[in-house]
Amino acid sequence: MVSESAVPVAANDFARQWLDIRDDAIGAVERVGASGWLILGEEVREFEREFAAWWGVDHAIGVASGLDAIEIALRAAGIEPGRRVLTTPLTAFATTLAILRAGCEPVWCDVDESGGLDLGLADIALRDDPTIAALVPVHLYGHPLDPDALRRLAAEHGILVIEDCAQSAGAERDGSPTGVAGAAGATSLYPTKNLGAMGDGGVILTDDEALAERARSLRDYGQAGRYEHVEAGLNSRLDELQAAILRSALLPRLDGFLACRAVIAARYEAGLRGTSLRPITAVVGRSAHHLFPVEVTAGDPLEVAARLREAGIGVGRHYPFVCPDQRAVAGIGISLGELAVARRLATRELSLPIHPYLEEDEVEAVLAACVEVCG
Ligand SMILES: *Cc1c(COP(=O)(O)O)cnc(C)c1O
Repeated sequence: MVSESAVPVAANDFARQWLDIRDDAIGAVERVGASGWLILGEEVREFEREFAAWWGVDHAIGVASGLDAIEIALRAAGIEPGRRVLTTPLTAFATTLAILRAGCEPVWCDVDESGGLDLGLADIALRDDPTIAALVPVHLYGHPLDPDALRRLAAEHGILVIEDCAQSAGAERDGSPTGVAGAAGATSLYPTKNLGAMGDGGVILTDDEALAERARSLRDYGQAGRYEHVEAGLNSRLDELQAAILRSALLPRLDGFLACRAVIAARYEAGLRGTSLRPITAVVGRSAHHLFPVEVTAGDPLEVAARLREAGIGVGRHYPFVCPDQRAVAGIGISLGELAVARRLATRELSLPIHPYLEEDEVEAVLAACVEVCG
């Protein structure tokens, strides 16, 4: 039997967030409305300035999504269509899709026990195939990969590194944030992310002035100046409304959000000891705790997920399929080896609810259900 006292615990709760941010968000909408300026104006410029300062980079370029941020970063860094790009099979499909959209061929190599790309295997892959032009590692779950190892791979193999930081806003390792080891980072402002807009958005992060300028052009039809189109760009602009809400209501709360996530993660880690749910944790450094992934080490993961859901727990799966198995890439891309660890985690991973508006009694309800089902 699962607990009778089950309270539904949602994976995310944007209605609760609204109660908290309402006044600031309405003020931001009012400001944009009164300004009469709706696209690429003061709000986007100021958000980019404030977010770059928060992240610790020279330039932030607001775009329409995390997917676009990766594609534009690859193109702005000069990765030509037709080139091979090494990446992880265990991620949101958007990572692979961005590589395809940049006209490149994805090459997937396996992950390690933290869920992130195995950088030792990446080293071997890059040595074996000198035609690989770039690496797109993902700081999956918010766990930071080793920035020195990424820098070494870039230098030793002469490749460009574009980091997928969609889940890692706030992560830190060796005193630096993610996204700064290579040419650029790309993050997502999708509502569930650590810094989520009230809709879609993404940001390219870089210290490279020329890359930043090309990214600004690519997001706006590839214009150099008005009506002067120097390459085939996208329409991928962050809205003034989203930028204003981010600036006034969300970015000022981000450090608090991250602190809440860290408290919940610590409680889960302690409370799951002795259960058959193994927290998939960061090896080194400070995770941004975008997700709280666990590996189901005993029993059928789908049955465990079903029982936890019956107990009202909004469990997720990140991700149930590895990218190369998706029909969208049938016959496309190269898988290196069996991708055994990625496949095992894809089968056995569950995500427990973790978001800034989760209440203490809900965290305890999640743990009680986990102990009951997997104790
Ligand atoms: C969310 C996410 C993306 C895509 O971001 P969107 O804003 O939804 O396009 C890419 N990569 C990872 C790892 C993500 O989690």
